[in-house]
Amino acid sequence: MYRSHTCGELNATSIGKEVKLSGWVQKIRDKGFMVWVDLRDRYGITQLIFDEERSSKELMEKAQGLGREFVIQVSGKVIERESKNTNIPTGEIEVLVTELTILNTSLTPPFTIEEDTDGGEDLRMKYRYLDIRRNPVKNKLKFRHKVGMEVRNYLSNQDFIEVETPYLIKSTPEGARDFVVPSRMNEGQFYALPQSPQTFKQLLMVGGMDKYFQIVKCFRDEDLRADRQPEFTQIDCEMAFVEQEDILNIFEGLTRHLLKEINGVEVEKFPRITYDEAMKKYGNDKPDIRFGMEFAELNSLAKNKGFNVFDQQELIVGIAVPGAASFTRKEIDKLISWVKRPQVGANGLVWAKYNEDGTLKSSVDKFYSEEDLKSWAKETGAKPGDLILVMAGDTAKTRTQLSALRMYLGNELGLRKANEFAPLWVIDFPLLEWDEETERFHAMHHPFTSPKKEDFALLETKPGEVRANAYDLVLNGNEIGGGSIRIHDKETQSKMFDYLGFTPEEAKAQFGFLMDAFQYGAPPHGGIAFGFDRLVAILGGQESIRDFIAFPKNNNGRDVMIDAPAKLDEAQLKELHLQINQQVES
Ligand code: ASP
Repeated sequence: MYRSHTCGELNATSIGKEVKLSGWVQKIRDKGFMVWVDLRDRYGITQLIFDEERSSKELMEKAQGLGREFVIQVSGKVIERESKNTNIPTGEIEVLVTELTILNTSLTPPFTIEEDTDGGEDLRMKYRYLDIRRNPVKNKLKFRHKVGMEVRNYLSNQDFIEVETPYLIKSTPEGARDFVVPSRMNEGQFYALPQSPQTFKQLLMVGGMDKYFQIVKCFRDEDLRADRQPEFTQIDCEMAFVEQEDILNIFEGLTRHLLKEINGVEVEKFPRITYDEAMKKYGNDKPDIRFGMEFAELNSLAKNKGFNVFDQQELIVGIAVPGAASFTRKEIDKLISWVKRPQVGANGLVWAKYNEDGTLKSSVDKFYSEEDLKSWAKETGAKPGDLILVMAGDTAKTRTQLSALRMYLGNELGLRKANEFAPLWVIDFPLLEWDEETERFHAMHHPFTSPKKEDFALLETKPGEVRANAYDLVLNGNEIGGGSIRIHDKETQSKMFDYLGFTPEEAKAQFGFLMDAFQYGAPPHGGIAFGFDRLVAILGGQESIRDFIAFPKNNNGRDVMIDAPAKLDEAQLKELHLQINQQVES
């Protein structure tokens, strides 16, 4: 038996007990006549004491020879500690060791295994197994487990069953490149790793599973924008005989359950806004509604007043920044340079201060009277003490730029509080999205999403205006889930592939299996998938998903611990019928 207790378990009630503990040596304090060791395991830290008067010379020497991260087993007696530590549950006791076994030695770790470590990100990732011993990482993995359990509880109670779907499949278009796996047994052929289990979950509905879920890995080969992973986890769900309303209700329920069980927060019914409204009010289809600063369109108030810069623009739009009338010239200049950076790309920023005394002062006083500015204040909802910021230009671009500024100010002014949760549904997404590069429409969600019945006729005339039965769940400025009601008949699905530029042959080759299945009594169905890593991070009040993943990859998609991806040797390449381009080799 390695242990009778864990290192987090013993306290004042255990005094007098003979115990056995196993764990890692976190810290050693050697006073010569006395040695203290902090022994750590997943559950906590227990102080061990070796004492010249009460321990043998041999035992003392053995204790003195211990190093950080040695794995040891000790037997001893729980005694009351002289100087107590009230910060930890085991802080009132220590174990007077009578026997010490070194189970394994350790090299000196490359960084300190403490709450705050001296190790940088790269080093921690290379030795991730050591990083995981640290509380901040360990606790995040525990937290992730807890969220996963609550998801499973809720969905099982709603009669969902978890079904696994294969990883070695054919392409599932979700807007990214596929990771592919060569087949040894089928020369020249490749599997694709699923970008999501989309087609399989639909086939499970045809199979009569009715309510499916899976906490599942998905793989997307995209350029890794900050805080994305090439493999990530979804809570993937699908239901048969449902309309959009049914799905929104069930998954609002799931989100509410998680907020309550995990965060102890009760949330009102989630607001719903259409995609068009979200773009108009926030310039963003995943708005953070924890703070106001809603967009106000000022075209009718700001045009034709002699300010040429505005007159020619498609959209003039402003926000009121609470309490920011006190910004100095320098602070405003900083905002102007911020929006002019290439990442945002705005031409400039017009400002108007609504002073506490009720007067208004702007960067365009030459063109706009105080009355004009008052009308801007009214439209943006600015109050005395607020700063009005205005941008102008092409509608889509300007909205995106002002949204970036709104989020930046939300962060700067501390309005995006980690312990506040503001979920909402964004509904009525466009079905198609024009891609400038390929000069073609793409499915905004994916090609299996059904158009709204009432918009069906527009497909021929104004495809860009067709709305989909598609919805996103947004939490604190992040899209945490998205889904749609699906097409469930062959004819519509073929038509959709046609609109998306697939020839009938291509559609058959890639998705023939799905359209075949639709001919055997496919029920109406729909679903949703949540990004599990992101959801866990937000519930955990953190920005980054990385620490909630045991073994994450870096921004180049590399696992620096196992050093992957890596080259294959000749024999393996041959077996897979692959040849590496010589140029790549050299
Ligand atoms: N498969 C979709 C996704 O990964 C989710 C869904 O439509 O259910 O975004």
